[in-house]
Amino acid sequence: MTSRYDADRDLLAELLDGEPRYRVDQVWEGLYLRGADPQDLTNLPKSLRSDLAELLPPALHLVTESVSDGGRTVKWLWQLDDGARIETVLMHYPKRSTVCISSQAGCAMACGFCATGQAGFERHLTVGEIVEQVLRARVRAAEHRGGNPSSRSINVVFMGMGEPLANLDRVWTAIERLHGDAGIGARHLTISTVGLVPGIQQLIDKPLPVNLAVSLHAANDKLRNELVPINKRWPIDELIFAIQQHREIKGRRVSFEWAMINGVNDRPSDARELADLAARARAHINLIPLNPTPGWSPVGSPPARIDSFAAELGRLGANATIRANRGTDIDAACGQLRASQQPRPVAIRSL
Ligand code: SAH
Repeated sequence: MTSRYDADRDLLAELLDGEPRYRVDQVWEGLYLRGADPQDLTNLPKSLRSDLAELLPPALHLVTESVSDGGRTVKWLWQLDDGARIETVLMHYPKRSTVCISSQAGCAMACGFCATGQAGFERHLTVGEIVEQVLRARVRAAEHRGGNPSSRSINVVFMGMGEPLANLDRVWTAIERLHGDAGIGARHLTISTVGLVPGIQQLIDKPLPVNLAVSLHAANDKLRNELVPINKRWPIDELIFAIQQHREIKGRRVSFEWAMINGVNDRPSDARELADLAARARAHINLIPLNPTPGWSPVGSPPARIDSFAAELGRLGANATIRANRGTDIDAACGQLRASQQPRPVAIRSL
């Protein structure tokens, strides 16, 4: 059966055959603007509501919900219809909430320091599985902030499990729905990539100027080949060229992600090489404290070293921010998402 957000308007029109024409819009808006369950669309006759709830089931089934940072970080582990598991993380900040979503179950990019990469690739997510993560999180964010669910204040980052540019067709259709139907502005949508150059080139041809984040982590090919193996296929110079084109054509600032690994990529020479690449790409740098993962022994840089690395970048004229660490205790932090392979009891809690 087609899931709630995998259905397109044509399918919905088919399901609503015999109903007045305006029903398609009513249902579509209820799903996309309010994130509502068909059962709760009170502007529809009751029997139609329960028919639709049955015909358009959710794609995400809650396994566990974990909360940390005094309620400001929430992680959901979802089970999909075929048993695959993915995670979504919602973070509340003073002015906005950000949802970090998955684009694949697992990941084929094999970055050694990333828990998802350590576990390998399972499958691409469907459009509906991607969209539903955002809309359920937005309902929850609205509850948290006391707003209404269609308030547009949510930021969406494709920084959960998977490589979004390896699943670009579905990711892009999901982005079009989030933008056009759910009303989330392009500047609130960020695709994060390990650096798939053909994918970046495809993004340049897309009409919406979404933000681009590139997980750089090393600024010379020798080190980057080790940390981010796909670099052997698309080395740094090619990557920087694609980023420059993206920036020129889309007019959006690119950001570099840099996980701080003690003694590996936090030396003064790394700062110099990084500042140089950031100047070429006119990129903003996000320094991420390395989060511990089961299959990787190097440790994160101590806080003082992160501070001095940031200061050195500043002296070199680069623009760098140290990212706050969220949800480490519930394995919800950057790079920690790795859905448990063990079947666990299903916690029944509707969002
Ligand atoms: N595949 C995409 C998106 C997923 S990862 C990408 O690579 O960009 C989101 C971010 O978390 C990436 O910048 C990734 O490099 C970073 N990350 C992965 N493992 C990490 C870890 N253990 N500690 C800190 N950041 C990590």
